[in-house]
Formats: sequence, structure tokens, C-alpha cells
Amino acid sequence: MCGIVGAIAERNVVSILLEGLKRLEYRGYDSAGVAVLDAQGQLQRVRRTGKVQELADALADNPIKGSTGIAHTRWATHGGVTEANAHPHFSTARVAVVHNGIIENYQSLREQLRAEGFHFSSDTDTETIAHQVELELKSTDSLLTAVQRAVKKFHGAYGTVVIDQQNPDSMVVARSGSPLVIGLGIDENFIASDQLALLPVTRRFIFLEEGDVARISRTEVHIFDQDGNEVLRPVHDSEIEHDAGDKGGYRHYMLKEIHEQPTVVRNTLQDRLTQSGVDPRIFGALAPDLLAKVKHVQIIACGTSYHSGMTARYWLEQYANVSCNVEIASEFRYRKSFVHPNSLLVTISQSGETADTLAALRLGKELGYMASLTICNVPGSSLVRESDLAFMTLAGAEIGVASTKAFTTQLTGLLMLTLALGQFNGMADNDQQKIVGALHSLPAKLEETLALTGNIEKLAEEFADKHHSLFLGRGDQYPIAMEGALKLKEISYIHAEAYASGELKHGPLALIDDEMPVIVVAPNNELLEKLKSNVEEVRARGGIMYVFADKDARFESDATMRVINLPHVDSVIAPIVYTLPLQLLSYYVAIIKGTDVDQPRNLAKSVTVE
Ligand code: GLU
Repeated sequence: MCGIVGAIAERNVVSILLEGLKRLEYRGYDSAGVAVLDAQGQLQRVRRTGKVQELADALADNPIKGSTGIAHTRWATHGGVTEANAHPHFSTARVAVVHNGIIENYQSLREQLRAEGFHFSSDTDTETIAHQVELELKSTDSLLTAVQRAVKKFHGAYGTVVIDQQNPDSMVVARSGSPLVIGLGIDENFIASDQLALLPVTRRFIFLEEGDVARISRTEVHIFDQDGNEVLRPVHDSEIEHDAGDKGGYRHYMLKEIHEQPTVVRNTLQDRLTQSGVDPRIFGALAPDLLAKVKHVQIIACGTSYHSGMTARYWLEQYANVSCNVEIASEFRYRKSFVHPNSLLVTISQSGETADTLAALRLGKELGYMASLTICNVPGSSLVRESDLAFMTLAGAEIGVASTKAFTTQLTGLLMLTLALGQFNGMADNDQQKIVGALHSLPAKLEETLALTGNIEKLAEEFADKHHSLFLGRGDQYPIAMEGALKLKEISYIHAEAYASGELKHGPLALIDDEMPVIVVAPNNELLEKLKSNVEEVRARGGIMYVFADKDARFESDATMRVINLPHVDSVIAPIVYTLPLQLLSYYVAIIKGTDVDQPRNLAKSVTVE
């Protein structure tokens, strides 16, 4: 879930490991730790609950030094947030491990290892890895062989790095379900759960594949697949900007990322959207053949990505004439479902490593979907590698845990998918022209919308002392209302619910009073009059409303309603444009409440466990 960094070099690696952990902080975590093999060949470790800075302070007080080391930020799954449960974990004083993910059969392994005489000093599942490797080392001198044998015993997801006092010249890493990337240096090599951690020391990376185990020394990297055969994996030069980890003068990554949206949406459109539409090949070399056959789309995603999928359903059915279902990955993967003929399975994920979405893709392949497409922001990620087709959102590294620019670039990609599928399914010419024109205007409209920042900052003051709120939208704005509510929950911890506004009278109207602000997204579309009736229903019950509306929608501010006018946009791109003020509102409410905006409590950026 969280962060792994490892290094093997001639120099002391502690500062590299700490910098790596800092660059992974955005993923959300609750404790951190470092272990090195020191000059005497002894394992030394420092661990702390809380922030990486606390670990850094502890290391400044009691420095440890070593040229082989591993480090970790933990997002607790098994065992409370305590120093004893923080990684690295040791087995005796010989083996040290860090681990991301979950060893599901840890309880039976614990019993077996206890019977072998091992003593457990934490409540984690991870400690079983350390002891299991040490047990295997009783019958082999090779750390590689010991790890290869040990991983055969583990069920569940792991990315793990192991160092051994008696094999000081290498570290052994294993990947199954949690990403790991090897960073190649000159006479030094690195490992991390995300390339972002290693950008200060290298730009050359090898992405490990499922089941890989690798032995990494200062000068060599040997990778073995799950059958134990040595394999060559390609080396990639990272295209991520070196300063992707900087806030660029903004107070928080989230604010920077909100303001980047015009640029990254422009990047996502560039060279893909022409004056006449899109070439299906933007989704992959096989796309012209595969997309031509699609009659149904099944979208699978989690969280914010699920909301972009829900929006796309309105577009795909309205304009591309293909039926579409959307489901949360953790539900889809555990129920029986039916595959429609000529169905395309579309997964959406910022990281491409979301465990439930990845499991759903693998299940989808077994179920017999015609083809799979992923909309993803991380090249080389598991979803990208395992899908037949991929559309890369060019949002750049997204650091804020609450997703912003990944969402709007996903929507941009999904609207281009609507154009591509529409070509094969009789999309009306005027719809095609309308979508192409609207997409071309999108970056400028996003810029105009961001100019409202000052108004929204003022508006946020009215929310900061509230405990609950309702978000309302209709049609393709209903998922945008859901995304607005999710943002507010995530970073301001205010309870927020979204409703399709036609549903109000079926229950939630009972909640309306002057302590329950109601946020309405109201572009000028064919449902405007219906939405206005819903607004009147709230007003009649004494509700206080905040309406984000198109100028032409003719809402007037009064004692019970504050209207924030947005630039006039074509209704097809309104879901993308109306997302921005809701992001800004959540951000400024969180600022007033003083929450940890970029790393909200209890949440992690890339959800690589179930
Ligand atoms: N399951 C492990 C633990 O709770 C690792 C969690 C993580 O991915 O950070 O310690």
C-alpha cells in the first residue's frame, strides 16, 4: 500500500532512503522505519510511528550508517500503529524485511514458525516473511534461493525486499500483487514501490512483473520469473519530471494539482484529438479491430475513478449508442455476473495498481470479455501491462491523496472513447462535431473556471462549522455531485452525501434544515427545469443552497440561495468543468478546518490491498 525503498551502494545510503520515503509520503502511512547493514556487518534499525520527519529527527539524534539498506512507510493492515509493528522486521539479528501488502495465510505460518522455534515480536503478517526466509536459510546459503522457496508459502499480495547479514553484497526482492521497480545506477542499484522515490538518484528503471524474484547487487541485477527461469525485463527511461515531487509554490500538492488541470487536460488531448475526431489507435495498436466490434461496455473502478466511469455511462449510451454498465471493483469481483456479447471491459485507475480493480480485470479475462481497455495514469503499471488496450491520461504524477487532475483527465479520455466507439456505432454527425468542438474548448474553459477561486474561498467559510451536507445533480452531473461529496468527506471530514436530485422526495428531504447546506450543480442542460423544481422543494423546507450554475440557467441569489455562475460551456463537457469548483470548495473548507489536506487521515493514495 505504502512505501518501500532499498539501496545497495558504496556510499552511505541512509539519506537516499529517507529522501525516497519523503517522496512516497503522499501515499498515506502511519509509521516509518529504516534498517542498514553497518560497516561491521550488523543490522541497525530505527523506526517511528508518525511522520517520516520524526524518523529523520530520530536518525539525526542517533545516526546509523550503511551501504546496504531498506526503508518503509507502513499503512497498517495487521497489528496496530506501534513502533514494534513498524517495518523493517527482523528475524533474529540476521534477516531484515520490508513488505507492502498482506500475507493472507500469516496465521497458519505463524503457528508453523513458532513450532520451529521462532519468536514473534510484532502483530504483523509481515514478520512471517522474515522468519520464513531465515528458516529457508537453514538449508541453503543463497538468499535468492531462500526467498524463492519462502514466497511459494505465501498467499496474498506482497512487494518485499529482504537483506541478510550473511549475504551483505545483495538484496533480494519479490513481487506478487504489489508493485516494485528496480532503479539502475552506476555501481549502485535501488528498489522502490514507485519510481518517484528514486528520481533523485536515477532515471533508468526496470518494472518487475507478477511473480518475479530478483537479486540486486551494486553492479548486477538478475531477475527470475515465477518458474525460476532467469528473464530479461526491459529498461525504461523515466519521463516523469524530476521536480514532480515539488509543490511549485503552492501551499499543498492538491492545490497545485487543481491548478494544473487546464494544462494536463490539454496534454491529454494533444496529438489525439484532431479537428474531425479521434483515431481509434490512440487506445492501442489493436484498437481499430477491437473497438469496431464493441456493442457493450462494462466499466470497473473504485472511488473517484468509479465516478468518472459513472459519468462515461451517460456519454456512451447517449452519443456512442453502446450499452454500458458501471460497477465498483470490490463488488464485481465477488459476485456472479453475466458477460454480454461483444463486451469491452474498461478499468479505470490513477495508479494502475488498485488491487480490487486489477483483480476484477483478471476475473474479467476468465469470464470471457472480448477485450480489455484501461484508462490509467501510470505507464508500465499492472493494469496497463495486463490490458489489451490502454489510454494514458497525461496528468503527470498526482501526489495529493484526494484525486483531482487524474479524475478530469480520465473524463477527457472517456469522452474520446465515446467518440471512438461512436464512429463504429452510427454516432450522429452533429453529436460528433459538438463533442469535438467542446473538447477543443475544454482547457480554456477550465482556466476560466479557476478564475473563480477567490469567490469559492469566501464561500468555504460558510461550511467550516457544518457537520453534514448534501450534493445534488441530475443526469451526467449526478456522478459529479458524488465526486464533490467524496472530496469534501476525504479532506475536510465533513459528512457529505450525493443524491440524484429527483430522489430527494423519496427520503433525503427529511434531512433538510438550515444546518444542512445543499450544494447543487446546475449546468444549462435539458434537465435544468427538472432540477429547478428540486431546488424549490429544498427551499420550501427551509434549506440553504449553494448553486453552481451556468449564467444562462438564470438562478438568482437570495436569502436562502447563493449562486456562483460558471462560464457557459457545452453541456457535454459540463461534468468536467463543474468538477473544479467542487474540488476548490473542499480544499478551502479543509484549509479552514486545518486538516492534513495532502495526506488525509486513514487514507492511502494507491490502494494496493483489498
Ligand atoms: N500488512 C503489513 C502490515 O500491516 C504491510 C502494510 C503495508 O503495506 O504498509 O504491517
